Amino acid sequence: LKLEWDRLKDEKSVTKDGKHVELAANIGTPKDLTGVIDNGGEAIGLYRTEFLYMDSKELPTEDEQYTAYKAVLEGMDGKPVVVRTMDIGGDKELPYLELPKEMNPFLGYRAIRVSLDQDEIFRTQLRALLRASVHGTLRIMFPMIATLPEFRDAKAILEEEKANLAKADIKVADDIQVGIMIEIPAAAVLADQFAKEVDFFSIGTNDLIQYTMAADRMNERVSYLYQPYNPSILRLVKNVIDAAHKEGKWAGMCGEMAGDQIAVPLLVGLGLDEFSMSATSILKTRSLLTHLDTAEMKKLSEQALNECTTAEEVVKLVEQYTSK
Ligand code: PEP
Ligand code: MG
Repeated sequence: LKLEWDRLKDEKSVTKDGKHVELAANIGTPKDLTGVIDNGGEAIGLYRTEFLYMDSKELPTEDEQYTAYKAVLEGMDGKPVVVRTMDIGGDKELPYLELPKEMNPFLGYRAIRVSLDQDEIFRTQLRALLRASVHGTLRIMFPMIATLPEFRDAKAILEEEKANLAKADIKVADDIQVGIMIEIPAAAVLADQFAKEVDFFSIGTNDLIQYTMAADRMNERVSYLYQPYNPSILRLVKNVIDAAHKEGKWAGMCGEMAGDQIAVPLLVGLGLDEFSMSATSILKTRSLLTHLDTAEMKKLSEQALNECTTAEEVVKLVEQYTSK
């Protein structure tokens, strides 16, 4: 098995019937790049930039951020890098921002909500990203988007910073895709509307599951409700992928589910374009893909979505298939 995985390191990720899907990696710092390259990652599907802020005693400067983003873009040598703007708040505290304690931090002041409210911090990050964009293939992604106006406001700020840099004669790439995380059910439901305005979606199942099932992702006592295979989750995922494709956009996934060996066959069936996971799951998943036929997976996923009533039934269905 180990040998097969090694052999797959430099191969493309293709299904049994030859369909290419992108296997990307999630990273937290530029140091994680070696793991991505060693495991044959085709892209970075999620760079969690909040670690830049959390590993520091004060707000990271534009230059500090530029250095980190440039290192990742150069390290990937032209392969796509999806950088998520900071997702602070929720369970991720930042002492120097002095955010007040909240009753429900996961439902509170976090991510894009902070960025739009304290837009100087956001603008600094965007300028660093735009300046770094000439060093590779940058894609910018906003976290925790619930409404279209949030996306429009974030994009407008990005465009303003782009214009300011242009005025100062600073070069910026002209092909930067701008997308959103789908991790709030409201956005998953309205994916058809979002798809007209964004360049891509990346489904954040870690949060999407917690918000859909109303089960805190950190709370052991309700962890039985944290169900990636619940047909409700699968239907939301399908809605998002279909909406993207209808507008000619791509849909990826960067939650844990993207590297889950039970979920992958279903996600292939639903037509997911990009799977972003911890680097150590990439070769295992590339190997699994070679055994999956997309037409068969489409049937399997339709059965899971339409006939299964529980997560357990979905697991049984997939296991029956994969043990054949
Ligand atoms: C997610 O919510 O699925 C996700 C990838 O983001 P994070 O785990 O950083 O909240
Ligand atoms: Mg999230």
